Amino acid sequence: MPKTIYPTGQTAAKTDSLQECDPQVWSLIQSEQQRQHSTLELIASENHASSAVMAAMGTCLTNKYAEGYPAARYYGGCQFVDGVEDLARQRAKELFGCQFVNVQPHSGAQANTAVFFALLEPGDTFASLVLSDGGHLSHGMKLNFSGRYFKPVHYPLRYDLTATDYEQIDFDATRRLCLEHRPKMILCGYSAYPRTIDFARFRQIADECGAILMADIAHIAGLVAAGEHPSPFPHSHVVTTTTHKTLRGPRGGMIMTDDPEIAKKIDKAVFPGIQGGPLMHVIAAKAVCFGEALQPAFKVYARQVVHNAKALAAALMTKGYRLVSGGTDNHLMLVDLRRRDENLTGADAEKWLEAAGMITNKNGIPNDPRPPRVTSGLRLGTPATTTRGLTEPHMAQIADWIDQVLASRGDEHVVKKVRQQVAELCDRFPLPH
Ligand SMILES: *Cc1c(COP(=O)(O)O)cnc(C)c1O
Repeated sequence: MPKTIYPTGQTAAKTDSLQECDPQVWSLIQSEQQRQHSTLELIASENHASSAVMAAMGTCLTNKYAEGYPAARYYGGCQFVDGVEDLARQRAKELFGCQFVNVQPHSGAQANTAVFFALLEPGDTFASLVLSDGGHLSHGMKLNFSGRYFKPVHYPLRYDLTATDYEQIDFDATRRLCLEHRPKMILCGYSAYPRTIDFARFRQIADECGAILMADIAHIAGLVAAGEHPSPFPHSHVVTTTTHKTLRGPRGGMIMTDDPEIAKKIDKAVFPGIQGGPLMHVIAAKAVCFGEALQPAFKVYARQVVHNAKALAAALMTKGYRLVSGGTDNHLMLVDLRRRDENLTGADAEKWLEAAGMITNKNGIPNDPRPPRVTSGLRLGTPATTTRGLTEPHMAQIADWIDQVLASRGDEHVVKKVRQQVAELCDRFPLPH
């Protein structure tokens, strides 16, 4: 197809002729598409968005400036993008059962930044989980804004081996810590925590010490939306999430609350506080994602995510792996590799499994003696493989493949054989359209 070149140097072309306009970028995207097709995505924070979600992102909405909020913009021509943002907000409220939503944060970290700047003053104290036990860097890491401009104090897990809730949130210690330090905000919700979060218990502690309760449900949002994990409402004063993990939408963030005063502060903190123009094409894709998550099929999906995680966890434990906290209630698990083989590291496991077509990430485990670039743990999740249509028997098969690769310490022949079998399974379960 001949290209039309405008005098300005712009290329007039349909979106589907990216191949002709820019074969270099097109070819890299093709390679990524093939990589995603031919490997099993076991990273707990990733998923495969539908083609409807991706279609919304690749549209003319990317051209539009819409600083402000629907019906209160700083630019003309916002009639249709107002409709898009209203739809996204309306669907999000219905999905999570809350009163106010801001769908503009560009990412989960941006959503958290807005909450901190809306509800705290620089230097204020907040409480969050010990970061190496499953927290997110935006929950007080030294190099992050949250650790540089605010003062984190960290609550621990239960490290008492004899406790029935070993390696779960230690609420007694959390309460003691909060009563001692009187944080202005308590943050719950994590990146590598395999258990149900007791939001009501956190709220009790927050009320006792006069703190705001913030829930960051970035990981579990899809499970919450489907009723497979308890809701952070009505217990939390403010809730942040990503839209691209279990929720299976576009890469992005969102903030929710039932409190009109907090809602006003949040809107101001997002714009003009920390962001300029919202990504209207991404907000359209968020609306599509929320529409999908409101369908009955999404409940079936979320339930299967949890069933698959339990099946994968059980199969790994049968093979001699220890799971942090002894199992999982949600979509992810943390494998302590040392129980299977004292010399096995997270870094080696990640590398060998990738060679065999299974994509994972190394992850520190509670009290990990190894540094973060090595680790003794591996984080595994089932959101993406469940989207492909895999069920419990496939999880047992995946556990077997993982063990073959790790037991052989990445032996070339074993890796090659498993890679072949993984590719065959992937061909039978193509990515969604
Ligand atoms: C993933 C995650 C985030 C941040 O999401 P980004 O979109 O990568 O900025 C925030 N909080 C938690 C708990 C997460 O797991």
